[in-house]
Amino acid sequence: MTVQRPRVSVAACASYDLDTVSTALQRALDPLGGMGSFVSPGQRVFLKVNLLMKAAPERAVTTHPEFVRAVIRAAFAAGAADVAVGDSPGGRNSAASTRALFETSGIAAVCQQEGARVSLLDDAVSRVSFQGGSLYSSFNLGSEAVGADVLISLPKLKTHGFMMFTGGVKNLFGCIPGLEKAQFHLKVPDRQDFAEMLVDLMLACAPELTIMDAVIGMEGDGPAGGPPRQIGALLASPDPAALDVIASAIAGFDPMDVYTVRAAARRGLAPASPAGVSVVGDDWERFVMRDFAHPARDMSRRLPPRVARWVRKRIVSRPVLSDPAGCTACRTCEQNCPVSAITMAEKRPAFDYDTCIRCYCCQELCPQQVIGLRRPWAVRKFFVPDAARKA
Ligand code: SF4
Ligand code: SF4
Repeated sequence: MTVQRPRVSVAACASYDLDTVSTALQRALDPLGGMGSFVSPGQRVFLKVNLLMKAAPERAVTTHPEFVRAVIRAAFAAGAADVAVGDSPGGRNSAASTRALFETSGIAAVCQQEGARVSLLDDAVSRVSFQGGSLYSSFNLGSEAVGADVLISLPKLKTHGFMMFTGGVKNLFGCIPGLEKAQFHLKVPDRQDFAEMLVDLMLACAPELTIMDAVIGMEGDGPAGGPPRQIGALLASPDPAALDVIASAIAGFDPMDVYTVRAAARRGLAPASPAGVSVVGDDWERFVMRDFAHPARDMSRRLPPRVARWVRKRIVSRPVLSDPAGCTACRTCEQNCPVSAITMAEKRPAFDYDTCIRCYCCQELCPQQVIGLRRPWAVRKFFVPDAARKA
C-alpha cells in the first residue's frame, strides 16, 4: 500500500507589496487546486490571524495586513458570501482593547476596505467535542471560528520561547477564548504535554487550509520580542502539522526539536522529517536559514519527569527584567502569570523562580518587550549563550 505524503506548497514572496503577495498567494495555492478547492460560492469563511499583542506590522509580531488583504480577496473571488477575520489575543482583553489590537496591526483597516468583518472571538463560545485526542476530547472554542463553513489559519513564522516555534498548529491556540488560554499553562505546564494539548486542539479546530506568512518572520526571543528576519516565502497546506515540518526546517530547526511537530509525529499526524512531506511549488530548501536564532532548548526533556522538574528549575531559561528603565509598571506581566509568580516591587516585577513554571507568558505579553529569557550562568558559560545564532 502506498502511503500518501501530506502536501505543502511553497511560493517565493519577496515583499508585502500587494501585487507581489497576491501573485505569490496564487502560486502557493495553485498546486493545491486554488482557493476554489477550499472555498465554494456562498460559504462563510473565517480567517484566524495571529494578533498576539498591540504591535505595528513592521515588528513582525502579527500576521501582516497586506497578506490578510490578499487572502480576503482570494476568498471573495472564490465566491465566499462572508469573510470574518479574528483571533483571541493572549492576556486580559476587553472588546475595546482587542479592537485596538486590530487597529494597530493594520488588519481592521484592511477588513473595512475589503468588506470583511472583524470578529472578536471571545464574544461567543461553543463546546466542541472531537475524536482522537491524547489529553482532551473537547474544548471551548470561539464560535465564529469553528462555526464557519471554512476555517483558514494564517500564522506567522516565528520562534516561541516555550514551544520553540509557532506555526500552523500553535496559531490555533487563539481559538480558545480569553483567559482560558492562561489556564492551560496551569493544567499542562510541561512543554511536551502542552504540545499534545495543541495537537488535540488542531484536531478540534480542523482547519481546511493553513497559509503561513513567512515573508518576514521573527527569530530569537519570539513570539514577540525577537528581531524581524526576511525569509521571503508563503507556505500553504491543508495539513498544519506537515506545514510546520517544512516551516520549522526553513527556520533552521530539526523539526523533531519543535514540541508540536514531535507530538504530532508521535501520533502519526505528521511526518518526522521533511522527507515525509510532498513539497510542491518553489524549491523550499533555498529558503532554509541555518543561522536563524533559536530560543533556548529545554535540555531536561529526556530525563524522568521528577528529575526533569528539579533540573528544569536550574537549567531552563528564566524570565528576567532585561531593561528596567523601559518598564512602565503596567502590571500586564503580573496580571497574566498563571501561577502568581510575579509581584510588583517598587514599580518593577519581581519573579519567584520557585513558583515560576517557565511558561513565558510574561515575556510574550509585556507590551514594552522588556522581559527577556536568561539561561542560568553555567548553561551560558558551558553550552550556549542567550538567543544565540547558530554557527
Ligand atoms: S515588565 Fe512589562 S508587563 Fe511587566 S510591568 Fe513592566 S512593562 Fe508592564
Ligand atoms: S513568571 Fe512568567 S514564565 Fe514564570 S510562570 Fe509567571 S508568566 Fe510564566
